Amino acid sequence: MSVFSHSEFDHHQQVAFFNDRASGLKAIIAVHNTNLGPALGGCRMWPYASDDEALTDVLRLSRGMTYKSALANLQLGGGKAVIIGDPARHKTDALMHAMGDFIEGLGGRYITAEDSGTSVADILKIGDKTSYVSGVNRVTAHGGDPSPSTAYGVFVSLREAVCHRLGRSDLKGIKVAIQGLGNVGYRLAKHLREAGAELYVSDIVQTNVDRAVRELDAIAVTGDKIFSLDVDVFAPCALGAAINRHTINQLKASVVAGAANNQLASVEQGHQLHRRGILYAPDYVVNAGGIIDVYYQRKMHQEHYGLEDYAADLASKVEEIGSTLGEIFVRSDSENVPTFVIADQVAEERFTQAGNVYQSSSAETAPA
Ligand code: NAD
Repeated sequence: MSVFSHSEFDHHQQVAFFNDRASGLKAIIAVHNTNLGPALGGCRMWPYASDDEALTDVLRLSRGMTYKSALANLQLGGGKAVIIGDPARHKTDALMHAMGDFIEGLGGRYITAEDSGTSVADILKIGDKTSYVSGVNRVTAHGGDPSPSTAYGVFVSLREAVCHRLGRSDLKGIKVAIQGLGNVGYRLAKHLREAGAELYVSDIVQTNVDRAVRELDAIAVTGDKIFSLDVDVFAPCALGAAINRHTINQLKASVVAGAANNQLASVEQGHQLHRRGILYAPDYVVNAGGIIDVYYQRKMHQEHYGLEDYAADLASKVEEIGSTLGEIFVRSDSENVPTFVIADQVAEERFTQAGNVYQSSSAETAPA
């Protein structure tokens, strides 16, 4: 297994492999970039088929966090952790404690949070051994769960995209198709309904659909029909790769804006959306509400930074997602370059121009 010549290796500053025989922990932490601050990113637990698959995931995801935080204008770098194992069978307190020891050993260059396969309870266990954790602040309205902030950020993004593409300053009567009504999708649907949008929804879990129909007057759509509806906006809020070579030609929406990570199956779909005049709001810009929430939760560890500061800073930073997107849309139009390319360029401009916080100061003095 190679690291420096790995296809997903992108000048990562540090890749650390951990093994704890007693608890059975096998984990990798990748710190992609710390120019803007300590590398914050979730800890994923997954029964990877091979070590290489785990390495691929952690390299790709940690890089994505650098871009996401830079575009959200946070003093954070990008990192990610993966634990190799089945969360349903291999999770123990000892394993999480061993993970906490390893994170502590990195001295604050990496800060962890929840991700697929880990919960607030797991991160609290890790937190028994290290203070470099976030997304577990029980005093917040949702006990540390960042999904409400993610949903609000998607709503703000969708509003911005509709304004840019359709010239509308409100969402009254705007038709939105939402794929996936989980933690984020359902809350997004609620914001949209309150703003007067018409909702078309699908989920593989029928009770989720029934709730949206009952509570939000949404129209239920089955299976793949969600892609081809005659709507203004398509909002992918389920899994990745919703926009792929099978679905892209079905789209009638003029805007794609949703919460799901990695919505484009490949860059080719991003270019195709641009050629077809469909405005794509880049996923990692749109769904940054979660990392913004986790960032401000962490600030609550500092003295004189309380719940009120958290709520005010969080709200204004999530609103800022709209103006960042606005800049990306304008630049995309003027340069005739797809939005996802512009977003990457803006992020790179931000984190490559910043000096590395760890070159002149210790981890302890880096921004928390
Ligand atoms: P979730 O698991 O709560 O919800 C996902 C929903 O999608 C579920 O209800 C599931 O039944 C449904 N679904 C799965 N496959 C489907 C399909 N083929 N068609 C229709 N519905 C389908 O997840 P979530 O927390 O709401 O996150 C949604 C997406 O947003 C994910 O891609 C996630 O990675 C991304 N995201 C979430 C956050 C957050 O704060 N929760 C932050 C950033 C990105």
